[in-house]
Amino acid sequence: MTTDFTKTRAMFDLPPGVIYLDGNSLGPLPRAAALRVAQTVTAEWGQMLIGGWNKAGWMDQPSRVGDRIARLIGAEPGHVVMGDTLSIKVYQALASSLQMNPRRVILSDTGNFPSDLYMAQGLCQTLGDRDLVTVAPEALLEAIDETVAVVLVTEVDYRTGRRHDMAALSARAHDKGALIIWDLAHSAGAFRVDVAKGGADFAVGCSYKYLNSGPGGPAFIYVAPRHAETAPPALSGWLGHEAPFAFDRDYRPGRGIERMRVGTPPVLQLAALEAALDIWDAVDLDDLRARSLDLTDRFIAGVEAACPMLTLVTPRDPQARGSQVSFAHPEGYAIMQALIAAGVVGDFRAPDILRFGFTPLYTTFDEVDAAVAILARIMTTGAWDQPQFKTRAKVT
Ligand SMILES: *Cc1c(COP(=O)(O)O)cnc(C)c1O
Repeated sequence: MTTDFTKTRAMFDLPPGVIYLDGNSLGPLPRAAALRVAQTVTAEWGQMLIGGWNKAGWMDQPSRVGDRIARLIGAEPGHVVMGDTLSIKVYQALASSLQMNPRRVILSDTGNFPSDLYMAQGLCQTLGDRDLVTVAPEALLEAIDETVAVVLVTEVDYRTGRRHDMAALSARAHDKGALIIWDLAHSAGAFRVDVAKGGADFAVGCSYKYLNSGPGGPAFIYVAPRHAETAPPALSGWLGHEAPFAFDRDYRPGRGIERMRVGTPPVLQLAALEAALDIWDAVDLDDLRARSLDLTDRFIAGVEAACPMLTLVTPRDPQARGSQVSFAHPEGYAIMQALIAAGVVGDFRAPDILRFGFTPLYTTFDEVDAAVAILARIMTTGAWDQPQFKTRAKVT
């Protein structure tokens, strides 16, 4: 397949005058999602009322949509389900893993996203007999030993864009008798992922970044087929029960991935996601990756040539990075605010990182060149050095 990226760009409703390099944080609005949600609200919720659960297929939506995510992450069909937020799914995968493996340690790295680490800390406090151990990302492989019950690893570092080697870490974990959970928050929709070949026991990720489901869109969870009928769901809500509408007093896990469901699915968000996923039907993931690397290489070369005061913190090696580029500067926050005011939307991550997401579905080479030129102007004129760019907002 040869992907037509002009066509995929036209499927998004992008505001004029904005170069959007933040689709790794919140994907933009697919035109079809706006229509689908409106239709779900008026024709399904409005007209069918509670009948929508059966007539409009709302109850099967979490696994139906999960199957479409499965293609993007290399999962076997029938082993991905949608629901809750990513933080909750991290907790569920961790709690399930700790029930499957009685060892003491949850191992993660210091580059992991704080919410993943916070959820692990909370779970350890609840359980009392488990500990979270974190090591530097480069030391993770070696740190997997016989004390480790489960390795919790986010494939792409949210700050630097550095990418872990899934197959190597999974192989080492299994060699040492540990389970491994892959967080694909910055992978799913950014490049081809292969959780089956990569040896993941569990994988989790969110849908509102590269997959464009909109703010608050649900997360996904994958359980490897070898664990599907034995992994305990840990969060034993009624919709993961074998027969939710039997209203039994005692919990019995549902079949396979269905047991990882917890409560009522977010039907409107899933409608938006279903429409957003239609775009991916016309996308070859190898084309996506090739374009992502072309876009990021061009941005790196342009910024390094024009802005020597910015320090690249993303690996140059294409194999070792995701689809974002980050530069460090002590005044990173103010620089990013000045950029946003000039129509280039990236984001800032404490303490000093300017982060730019490259999303081949809609980012163009002309936009990369224009973003480089605007950044260069802001840096050389010192336009960022003004009080209005230095007040921190709640979301950075
Ligand atoms: C974005 C992100 C999250 C966010 O979790 P939510 O519960 O959806 O807010 C968690 N973990 C990682 C690695 C992320 O990148």
